[in-house]
Amino acid sequence: KFSGKTALVTGSTSGIGLGIAKELASQGANIALNGFGDAEQIEAQRSALESEHGVTVKYYGADLTDVAQIEAMMSSIPDETGPIDILVNNAGMQFVSPIEDFPVARWDMIIALNLTASFHTIRLALPAMKKNKWGRIVNIASAHALVASPYKSAYVAAKHGIAGLTKTVALEAAEEGVTVNAICPGYVWTPLVEKQIPDTAKARGMTEEQVINDVMLAGQPTKQFVSIEQVAAFTTFLCTDDASGVTGSMQSIDGGWIAR
Ligand code: NAD
Repeated sequence: KFSGKTALVTGSTSGIGLGIAKELASQGANIALNGFGDAEQIEAQRSALESEHGVTVKYYGADLTDVAQIEAMMSSIPDETGPIDILVNNAGMQFVSPIEDFPVARWDMIIALNLTASFHTIRLALPAMKKNKWGRIVNIASAHALVASPYKSAYVAAKHGIAGLTKTVALEAAEEGVTVNAICPGYVWTPLVEKQIPDTAKARGMTEEQVINDVMLAGQPTKQFVSIEQVAAFTTFLCTDDASGVTGSMQSIDGGWIAR
């Protein structure tokens, strides 16, 4: 489906981003991987994707909280991997704390990664997409782009910001063959979710088991985590020509969470 196209998936060394990179590669896209992690493990993932799917896969270790590193990555990808046709803004982090105690540096970092980085990748990728009259931007937002939960002020603020950014850029690119959408997952079982269980337990004075059943899955009427593969399939659909009429939208995949 995407043969000859190139996709940048930010934060694709783990979790949802890695799942999306795998799915796009399996459908023929060249992939620019990005994210942190163990160098050997990343290289193993990179070369496996390349050999399994016969596509070009390059890795960029840019720290997306640093604009200079984003700019360097964005200028290297067209030469090394291919002009970016598909941009998936997925890198993100969470921090759980009552706002009175919220560390200021954490707030700044979450806004930088979960919101500002997408402003930079979009402003740098859009000119080529407009020129080619084809482009797909998918922002991996969250149910927290639409509703809030306590103790996640930076995350919820950044994700609501992504909703606004998605809609604005969709309008700016609407006549140029470029669609811009956000996917709003509920709880997906990934390292990000696993890591926040102990902090949420502490903030709420609960056991970790209670956090899983009474906090996370309590709000998700299906009582099931969404899977990485489901988010990847949804993302990939938004990149097809069948989805060319879908833009500026917030797409929920949350087991019914925000229907309440
Ligand atoms: P994850 O922790 O498994 O992966 C995050 C990725 O971002 C990793 O590849 C990591 O290396 C990368 N990253 C972290 N800091 C970075 C930085 N400064 N620069 C570049 N890369 C960086 O997380 P995940 O659960 O797969 O989450 C991916 C996205 O999905 C996030 O935006 C998250 O907010 C969103 N999301 C996740 C869930 C969930 O339940 N897991 C639900 C809704 C939304």
